Amino acid sequence: MFLKMLTEKFTNVSSLKRDLQRALHIISEADRIIIGVGAGLSAAAGLHYDGPEFENAFADFISRYGITDLYSSGFYPFETPEEYWACWARHIQFIRFTPPAMPLYKQLLQLVQDKDYHVISTNVDGQLLKAGFDPKRLFEVQGDYGYLQCAHRCHDTLYDNRLLVKQMVEQTSNCHIPSQLVPVCPRCGGNMAVHVRVDGYFVEDEAWHQAQERYEQALQEVCEGGKTVLLELGVGYNTPGIIRFPFEQLAATLRNVTLIRVNSLQSQPMTSRLDHNHFIGLSTDAATAMHAWLPHG
Ligand SMILES: [Zn+2]
Repeated sequence: MFLKMLTEKFTNVSSLKRDLQRALHIISEADRIIIGVGAGLSAAAGLHYDGPEFENAFADFISRYGITDLYSSGFYPFETPEEYWACWARHIQFIRFTPPAMPLYKQLLQLVQDKDYHVISTNVDGQLLKAGFDPKRLFEVQGDYGYLQCAHRCHDTLYDNRLLVKQMVEQTSNCHIPSQLVPVCPRCGGNMAVHVRVDGYFVEDEAWHQAQERYEQALQEVCEGGKTVLLELGVGYNTPGIIRFPFEQLAATLRNVTLIRVNSLQSQPMTSRLDHNHFIGLSTDAATAMHAWLPHG
């Protein structure tokens, strides 16, 4: 039994290694790469929404409100705006402003920078920009922690929050910010919100629409031909309609497209129409894949 398990383990390891090599070969031959980025890439890069660093940075909020992780803290029913913004400011500081460009994101850029590439991302942590990806080749569908908007979208302006967040964090006391730092909408006087899609009031401003148009143009060029790789990294089932399902659809439909999916937990496709020539599912995380793909020493 043990020997059988061991044999299976080594078989899986060697088939992963073989698939990683085949994927790298296809990437190197490609005329164009469309990269789909999800939460799993930032997790593999070392940005964690729970665990020891979170527990250390949020000890006061954890003991006072019982929050267990950053994701659910965003939905905690705080009784006052002073508490709500104290928690959100530290959240934004912790994930968006404090971390440098993580090495894994820089490695991803190194892998694709000589190609005609385009990126679609559901992440809101600003890592792609920090790593140096061309903003004109980037579509961040779900927003950016670094901006505020009117909570009821009375107008479509986004407001850089870096300085305000810094002030809020520095002046937080007993899990409250001072009342005068609570942001209000400059037009309607109502609440402000972090620019992240959580409801129907998400602001899609001019820049968002231009990014969407450029992405759709890139997909149009895929349809016109040329060896194309869809490189999907850490995209799960939170919002599969944005990247995961459309990528599968493209790879199943177009002969010039191969989908390379890097996902340690959910690498299998939904559709049965993807054959060996158009799909490689790599059951590993992006850090392992990048280690195999890039020269290191
Ligand atoms: Zn407003």
